[in-house]
Amino acid sequence: MQRRTPPAPATWTQAAALAALAALVLVLFSPRALAPPPGARAHPVIVLDPGHGGIDGGTHLDGRILEKDLTLQLAQAMAPLLEASGFRVVLTRTADYALAPGDDDASVRRDLEERLRIAREARAAALVSLHVNAARDSRQRGPIVFYQIGDEPGRRLARAIQDRLNAVFPPAARNEALPADFFLLARAGRPAVLVEFAFLTNPADRAILLRPQGRGLLAAAAVQGLVGGLAELGIRAHGVPGRR
Ligand SMILES: [Zn+2]
Repeated sequence: MQRRTPPAPATWTQAAALAALAALVLVLFSPRALAPPPGARAHPVIVLDPGHGGIDGGTHLDGRILEKDLTLQLAQAMAPLLEASGFRVVLTRTADYALAPGDDDASVRRDLEERLRIAREARAAALVSLHVNAARDSRQRGPIVFYQIGDEPGRRLARAIQDRLNAVFPPAARNEALPADFFLLARAGRPAVLVEFAFLTNPADRAILLRPQGRGLLAAAAVQGLVGGLAELGIRAHGVPGRR
């Protein structure tokens, strides 16, 4: 975060005031004026939230292919692409574990609260929760990006990501971003979306999800949509951050 130097306490003569005005005009019309305003961050933080983990596998196929593994792989594919676009990335989990122990409703809620705490402490510009879908009807397919009802920035992010993800799929598999009322999105306190990349229960979607190449396409599309959507909201990265 950048701070402005405090104004000098000296008494202002007319000449000094004119000089200051001239300096202000110079600043306003120089390329420096394109730099982020004070308080804005040159490298906004995006929190990527790989859904589920540990005892909570999420949806699955025959107990062998687990949503929690796919969401982590997708997050790990997205992170370097976002960083290359100048954003800092924080993952809510970096391996296979739950963020709160136990498997009852209370621990599911604590797990989600922990994800929210991470986004808050990172002062994230946006929270992006990553999931894989399932349906009884195996014909159902394609990506669906959800946003919290009433969250206008979230809606814009969701639509931008949805558009890019749709392009990875044939026309019949394309969907629209949808409003929802989810615990995580409702309490995010920042633009937030939940991405269901594809249906594990659809054979064609599954073929995309299970191949590293397919996940790479999904990750790249999601990042393109996210970066475009953030720009619409005035959230831009300035240059590529140095490695920590
Ligand atoms: Zn899920």
